Amino acid sequence: MRVRRSIAVAVSVLALAAASACGKSGSPDAAPAGGAAAAKAPAYTVKSGVKLDSSPTWSKAKQKGKLTIGAKADQPFLGFEDLTSNTRTGFDIEIAKMVAADLGFSADQIEWKTINSSNRETAIAGGQVDLYVGTYTINDGRKQQISFGGPYYIAGQDLLVKKDNTTITGPESVSGKNVCTATGSTSAKNITKYGPKVTTYDTYSQCVDKLLNGEVDAVTTDDAILKGYGAKNAGKLKVVGKPFTSEPYGVGLGHDDQALRDAVNEALKAHEDNGDWKKAYDATLGLSGAAAPEVPPLQAY
Ligand code: GLU
Repeated sequence: MRVRRSIAVAVSVLALAAASACGKSGSPDAAPAGGAAAAKAPAYTVKSGVKLDSSPTWSKAKQKGKLTIGAKADQPFLGFEDLTSNTRTGFDIEIAKMVAADLGFSADQIEWKTINSSNRETAIAGGQVDLYVGTYTINDGRKQQISFGGPYYIAGQDLLVKKDNTTITGPESVSGKNVCTATGSTSAKNITKYGPKVTTYDTYSQCVDKLLNGEVDAVTTDDAILKGYGAKNAGKLKVVGKPFTSEPYGVGLGHDDQALRDAVNEALKAHEDNGDWKKAYDATLGLSGAAAPEVPPLQAY
């Protein structure tokens, strides 16, 4: 998969150029200007008669008639909110919608809540959200507080730098440099051992602004996230393209809610098997330049 991704990075120039042609404030999923219409995300059939009474979260959501899902809002191609049209787009948003459909909730029965990296466990454990879908790495520390369905995608941590930067070529070259990332992320933890000066903000888009105005030398987080920012700033920024960690993305849910976790995994499997996963990828994350990787096998968390 790594090899395939590196090839995809190498051939991504054209796709990046196309993606960067999308309107600045518009949806990053808009069709590339001048090209064929972008692949459309599929519509998901809402399952009727779902009974998940042994899940307290599902039962409450069913009573309310809405499922509350936490997501990111500033990550192009993954979880992005267009404030002018009040729409959310991206691969994570599609994953959330397909899971919701199999749990018996249509897209308009989803109540979205934007939750940053550092607030995810608290939001899930405190019942502020029923599910969380937003570049959320499955790891042991988090599993103490919450559970995960998935993984549905595997990213790798990388670096985003100015287009003309030739000194930062991978994590080994960030020692003493100013590197920005998000508070509460695995990215912040992982980069420290390479010795940079780390600045953290609530969101990665704040870091991208600091990179563009020269306050930091690099932004570090998952390649999937950085490719989106790279595509939106194609003339100015570039992804280094040497992923140095493995970040399996999971759907966050309440600790020990086994019924919900099993249902989430069943939903992911069904939509991976029927081609929805691939179509959703092509219509979203695929627009940032990387061909769809293999779907990782689901696990029990
Ligand atoms: N996947 C990493 C994490 O969960 C970095 C991306 C993020 O902060 O959402 O911490």
